[in-house]
Amino acid sequence: MDFKNVIAHCKEYAFIYQSSEIYDGLAATYDYGPYGVELKNNIKSYWWKSMVQMHENIVGLDASIFMHPKVWKASGHVDAFNDPLIDNKDSKKRYRADQLIEGYCEKIDNKIRKDVEKARKRFGDDFDEGQFRATNQRIIDRQQKIDGILGRMNQSLTDENLEDVKALIEELEIACPASGSKNWTDVRQFNLMFSTQLGNISGEEGKLYLRPETAQGIFVNFLNVQKTSRQKVPFGIAQIGKAFRNEIVARQFIFRMKEFEQMEMQFFVRPGTEMEWYEQWKATRLNWHKALGVPENKLRFHDHEKLAHYANAASDIEFEFPFGFRELEGIHSRTDFDLNQHQELSGKKLQYFDPELNENYVPYVVETSIGCDRMFLAQVSLALQEEEVPDAKGGTSTRTVMKFHPALAPVKCAILPLLKNNEALVKASKDLYNQVKFDVNAQYDEKDAIGKRYRRQDAIGTPFCITVDHQTLEDNTVTIRERDSLDQQRIKMEEVRGIVVEKCSMHSLFE
Ligand code: ATP
Repeated sequence: MDFKNVIAHCKEYAFIYQSSEIYDGLAATYDYGPYGVELKNNIKSYWWKSMVQMHENIVGLDASIFMHPKVWKASGHVDAFNDPLIDNKDSKKRYRADQLIEGYCEKIDNKIRKDVEKARKRFGDDFDEGQFRATNQRIIDRQQKIDGILGRMNQSLTDENLEDVKALIEELEIACPASGSKNWTDVRQFNLMFSTQLGNISGEEGKLYLRPETAQGIFVNFLNVQKTSRQKVPFGIAQIGKAFRNEIVARQFIFRMKEFEQMEMQFFVRPGTEMEWYEQWKATRLNWHKALGVPENKLRFHDHEKLAHYANAASDIEFEFPFGFRELEGIHSRTDFDLNQHQELSGKKLQYFDPELNENYVPYVVETSIGCDRMFLAQVSLALQEEEVPDAKGGTSTRTVMKFHPALAPVKCAILPLLKNNEALVKASKDLYNQVKFDVNAQYDEKDAIGKRYRRQDAIGTPFCITVDHQTLEDNTVTIRERDSLDQQRIKMEEVRGIVVEKCSMHSLFE
């Protein structure tokens, strides 16, 4: 499904609204509607349970958004959390210089992918993509061009050589996507942290930041948690919470927002063992995505060549969004950088006494960091489908359906009396609804013809529709309709709760 349809569907079906829409919106901020908040809570619950509940040695934390300003000095965010920005002098639009260059390369990559797809069709089952890419001269040339451009850009960014980044944009003749103009300002660094001011202290002293990542709340609490929850290294601390970044964005919906939610876990390990844990967490996190039924070809690792100042290894799990493969989650080996920095600036020891080695050390950290909103976008764009299904007249019709994993679906079952003006049917339906609502998010719906109600539930991804009809009144059975197979079966009313609870449970995901 293309990106425009995903955005439109999210709005029409109460998943996501533009923030402050009646005031024409606020760029890169969004509100989650009634079904959106359910889906988001389910994603968070799946992450939390798989981290905290399924691991004896991972515990939770909920740190505050405001932290002592020195935290951000220690973490490097005050000095180095920058994006290279460039303005177009004619259109007055502002862009991230690196994204303009990456966008240029992406167009070349799209051409490569088209060639690959054409060849795949031509050669059929015998097609070997790796060999084709390695031997087709046009692809080799294009790939070399991409590698050359990105290599030079990364080097210039590492060297803080912003003149060269601008020179590259000019050499490639990259134009402003809005106006077509190539009249650019110089590239300069722009800090992404939002700041605010304490009421009782004026000036720089009282300057506070809204956290740009949740991780630092975990680092500064490392010893508190370790001691009070009696953890031994290796152990992890997990947290879900809001983060804020003053991102320069263009039309990326909830992929890149100014206010978003992160689900982060910092895993504290013995120095020297971090690479084993890094590999292990990469595998564990990939499996977490696959368990939801995300097809393998929609996910890939992207190992970083240019490492952040705190990391000795880093990889992204990328997902194929409707606009191409992009970072969904990061797995980073952060060394002892953060804990050391906090030791230094706070003057407090952040060491762990390892009883087995009989020595003190600052643990190393492997982190997994996923954006809840990006996970939401990944799930929604994967789930939303249009398909031909048999209709009542023996023909076919198109239905719009969201094929969420039942454990993530916002509404688990809809209870539908066949007729809304039949008192006995309405009563039986409401009784059933009142039974199941204790265990799952259910919906009672009596408006419109039954087919229309099925479609409405398909459009929000409800895995089960339960129809209460005249036969129900005679033998206490109902029809259960399964969203994906459209299979309809008669079951006993007492069985509904058990079936829906079992099929929508997260149990199978954890196994
Ligand atoms: P990007 O390169 O896309 O800006 P990043 O490398 O800065 O992302 P991290 O700092 O590693 O991202 O943050 C961890 C995760 O938080 C990302 O994988 C992503 O899912 C999420 N995330 C980061 N920035 C945003 C944002 N502005 N809006 C929504 N999610 C975000």
